[in-house]
Amino acid sequence: MIDFRSDTVTKPSKPMLAAMMQANVGDDVFGEDPTINELENYTANLFGMEAALFCASGTMTNQIAIKAHTQPGDEIICDVLSHIYQYEGGGIAFNSGCSVKLIQGDRGRINTSQVLEAINNKQDIHKPISKLVSLENTANRGGGSCYNFQDILQIQQVCNEHQLLFHLDGARLFNALVAKNEQPKQYGHVFDSISICLSKGLGAPIGSILLGNKLFIAKARRLRKVFGGGMRQAGIIAAAGLYALQNNVALLVQDHYHAQLIAKTLEQKDFITAILPVETNIIIFEVNGKYTAQQLVEKLKEKNILAIAISANQVRMVVHLDITANMVQQTIETIQCL
Ligand SMILES: *Cc1c(COP(=O)(O)O)cnc(C)c1O
Repeated sequence: MIDFRSDTVTKPSKPMLAAMMQANVGDDVFGEDPTINELENYTANLFGMEAALFCASGTMTNQIAIKAHTQPGDEIICDVLSHIYQYEGGGIAFNSGCSVKLIQGDRGRINTSQVLEAINNKQDIHKPISKLVSLENTANRGGGSCYNFQDILQIQQVCNEHQLLFHLDGARLFNALVAKNEQPKQYGHVFDSISICLSKGLGAPIGSILLGNKLFIAKARRLRKVFGGGMRQAGIIAAAGLYALQNNVALLVQDHYHAQLIAKTLEQKDFITAILPVETNIIIFEVNGKYTAQQLVEKLKEKNILAIAISANQVRMVVHLDITANMVQQTIETIQCL
């Protein structure tokens, strides 16, 4: 099977497994796991931020960040397609008791004037208190779209002027950094908190990192315990994350190239009516007439290719570390024959 359902399906490579086997471990709830401490320090330094916290998932890092930044009744401003709103089980309401001001952005990306418009008047007692702006880069449901860094800086300025905190769901931030030739520190200097997934394109089996200042991360560490996410000798998995950050970032460019090749083939098919611009490793396209999204997914499955129907007429394919050049070639040939 050639699995394009998600970049979460990667399996740890032999050298990654070797790094895991050799990891020094300790009780992380006591702060005594040297490998987790190394991963947290390494990532904080990479982004030029004060501190970091290793968590089980990207949902956990996002939800802890939202909880740490808000009080019940506050409001979060984000794109309607955001993972924090669409795919975290209603966690914003469940964990933090917050409401959401949803913005119809451009492929998952919001802009300054939309944020300005979304901010509630603090004097109006009818309105929730606008507290946090959350961006997603790359934007998953935007087809892996990337922000222009200048637009992020402008939104940051609005946040500063209106005393809003600024969070980044950077599940696939490294894809954006590679695609836009940007540096982690640019982002570290702009956001109050950043969540990074190690288990997407970077190829680790588990884990996400939350970044912020020391006070924020101290609060987040307490919340992680409350959420049941305090782990013990988890250096075994942190070693995989460290290996991923140190070895697999440079490989993302290959995924982006493979995604381009597949998209170019899809463009030539008359049953595909639209493809979102492919900026990174995600391909989202619309089918019309000949197949429904589900029918196309089943057709591909017969040829040992797995994709996902994300709506009645939209299919998503995600390229990742375990997709080889040969698999891409085989996929292209299969699509050509559909
Ligand atoms: C995958 C993902 C997350 C985190 O998901 P988990 O499965 O909980 O690790 C967060 N945001 C985005 C945009 C994602 O794609």
